[in-house]
Amino acid sequence: MNKYTSCHWILHGLSFENDHIEMCCLCCHKGGGRLYIKENYNGKGLTWDNIIDLKQKFINENKENIIDRRCEGCFNLSNREWDDNEKYINYIHFNHWTRCNSDCIYCYTSWDKKNFQKKKHYNVLPIIKDLFKKKLFRPGGEITFAGGEPTILEEFDELIKLLLKNGADRITVHSSGIKFSKAIERGIKEQKLHVCLSADSGTREMYNKIKRVDCFDKFWKNVKKYANAQTDITKNFVETKYILIPDINTNKEEIDKWFELNIKNGIKSIVIDIENEYCKKLRENNITTPQYLIDLCKYIIEKSRELNLNLIDYNNFRYLTTEYKLI
Ligand code: SF4
Ligand code: SF4
Repeated sequence: MNKYTSCHWILHGLSFENDHIEMCCLCCHKGGGRLYIKENYNGKGLTWDNIIDLKQKFINENKENIIDRRCEGCFNLSNREWDDNEKYINYIHFNHWTRCNSDCIYCYTSWDKKNFQKKKHYNVLPIIKDLFKKKLFRPGGEITFAGGEPTILEEFDELIKLLLKNGADRITVHSSGIKFSKAIERGIKEQKLHVCLSADSGTREMYNKIKRVDCFDKFWKNVKKYANAQTDITKNFVETKYILIPDINTNKEEIDKWFELNIKNGIKSIVIDIENEYCKKLRENNITTPQYLIDLCKYIIEKSRELNLNLIDYNNFRYLTTEYKLI
């Protein structure tokens, strides 16, 4: 064991993006992330030795106290003992960004929807099969799925089954919640998969305004079905997420309605974040966060405690609550 500053993504992580592979998916800290492992990638077989060598290069630099500027300010950096002798992958992130059954106003794909819908998707299933075959995977890390919508990919259910079969026991799927997935339901039942469902609203009007698809009823029906799949009432495997979009859904009435729907549909765990572009603009222009937003975050924290809901703070919300010591 050696003590130095590094992060588990540098040692054991891979993030599959639309046309490249990165070390991780984090990009809203000061350094901005984007530590490329492979640029212009389209799903071809991987030479794992090259990836391990690249990771070793970063590890060696970290040992010399050199932190890549792209990691600056990232909350995953940690000064601790790292067991870097064994080489394996156990943090994997999937961001296919090629299609979605929702059309959220804040999503970066909405800037150029036509192009987004035309983007080619590559299958990760053969690569993950190869990772298992080469015995380079080790349970204990985390596997996450994010944007676009993972459940509408043809390979999705098979991929989840493969991951479960090979010992992945911490999978998180971010989904629009519009399509119900049997594989997700199975993962919840086995207590190995969390699903985070994108609500962003507490009323149909706000849902339609933000999502621009008329699926409010379908969404909450699926939330309930997933919540019912939970087999241990002391553990939470289903969350709904609310991204605070300033001047759109940042009022207490809307948030209260969302709290009500969570309770009504058997949800005990919630996720909060703040719209990324908004936060980026504040950061880039050195603008102080408006007081109403700080107060609203405080309100959400207090209300979730009152209702005994587990609150999971995603990146921008975490930065804000840390900065203003709200938690
Ligand atoms: S420190 Fe942060 S930005 Fe750097 S590799 Fe780790 S998770 Fe990614
Ligand atoms: S659900 Fe996610 S990927 Fe789909 S439009 Fe909304 S933010 Fe984008």
